[in-house]
Amino acid sequence: MSGLRLTFWGAAGQVTGSMHLLEAAGARILLDGGLFQGHRAQSHRLNVQLPFDARRVDAVVLSHSHIDHSGRLPLLVKEGFHGPIYATPASRDLSAVMLADAAHIQEKDHEYLERKGRVGPESEPLYSLRDAVAVQDLMVGVPYHRVFHVRKHLALDFLDAGHIIGSATVDLRVSEGGNHRLVYSGDIGRSGLPIVRDPEPPTGPIDTLIVESTYADRQHESFGQAETRMAEAVRRVASRGGRLLIPAFAVGRAQELIYSLHRLSRTGQIPQIPIYLDSPLAVDITTVFRMHPEVFDRTERFIGTTNELFDFPLLRYVRDVSESKALNSHTGPAVIIAASGMVESGRILHHLAHGIGDHRNLVLFVGFQAEHTLGRRIESGQERVRILGHEYERRAEVQSITGYSAHADRDELRSWVRRLGGPIRRAFVVHGEPPALEAMAGILREEGVRDVRVPSHGESFDL
Ligand SMILES: [Zn+2]
Repeated sequence: MSGLRLTFWGAAGQVTGSMHLLEAAGARILLDGGLFQGHRAQSHRLNVQLPFDARRVDAVVLSHSHIDHSGRLPLLVKEGFHGPIYATPASRDLSAVMLADAAHIQEKDHEYLERKGRVGPESEPLYSLRDAVAVQDLMVGVPYHRVFHVRKHLALDFLDAGHIIGSATVDLRVSEGGNHRLVYSGDIGRSGLPIVRDPEPPTGPIDTLIVESTYADRQHESFGQAETRMAEAVRRVASRGGRLLIPAFAVGRAQELIYSLHRLSRTGQIPQIPIYLDSPLAVDITTVFRMHPEVFDRTERFIGTTNELFDFPLLRYVRDVSESKALNSHTGPAVIIAASGMVESGRILHHLAHGIGDHRNLVLFVGFQAEHTLGRRIESGQERVRILGHEYERRAEVQSITGYSAHADRDELRSWVRRLGGPIRRAFVVHGEPPALEAMAGILREEGVRDVRVPSHGESFDL
């Protein structure tokens, strides 16, 4: 079919920066507009310069609101994009909170570096709060399973990706000069995760598949096993009068942990010790969760309403910094959940500075710790660690639980591909580090897809 072209401008050969440009039905459609994350100078170089004219993009389709999929949308708007951004209603509302937070972090980082006299081109914020708010005005909520005509020969259907609330797999049908079906997986979640529904792969023949591969080379423990280990950790810490310190990302992970701890406390599997969710962003996001009961997995609800899910006597939400610091003078056992998930910033830092030297405490990791992060150094058992400019001897116990991951693992990705049914004419593998990309390509070939590509950054294909 003529005139159909796909170019990979992010998450090609790596995990972050998801952004793919589709030229179809006479339009230029961007699939996601994510931020590159990780090494500061390198990411900044990739983020700051959009590889195309933003004014010539006709529309954006957003798979979900994680920053590595949405964090460059304010930049796109700043550079003149003014078309519609299609997202599920829950993604639209979650983005309002998350993009404002992303703009705020960039402004704060810039102020900090300015005070330290370390300003350079890469410390400039990519965009302001005003740009983040402008994104919201362009958002168009499209519910799951409602076929929407983006334009005359281009229909869009969102299916549940089961990854975080509002996350979607994008099913696009182009009907100009023939029919072409393109499926973009977004990030694929797991079956049996609480709160979100199970992933729902689109079925039938597919011409072009773009699929993620984050954990294609790994296997997770089940959610049930994760809960058992969480209960053991809480009991152990409580019995020795210590604190359980859990670094967690504000969206998804924090709410799953609350769900899990709520269930464990209701069933008497953990002692009655206070649980603090110490993150203003996580508190705001929990509010968005309350606003969207339609996305919840009903079969896994163990109590009447969504409101009660995030509300139980042991749980305290901490918004103020002063209240957060006061937690350090609190005596007796407690659970503290705070951002950031990889211990690069946020309030978890002062909790760790205060608590890592105490053998009664336990630092519990529930998410992926990337190379070169403080989280990775603690997780790998380093004896002395530097936190907020001071060196500490680590006496606290350290443990990791993989079962709270929101990403499908190797077997779950294979089962997702099988459930597509096929045939799949051509597949592109994105969103993974090199071993994961290769593993996913292998899975696709074993499942009968003949034409499998791992695109590199900036590579274009006529479909
Ligand atoms: Zn994601």
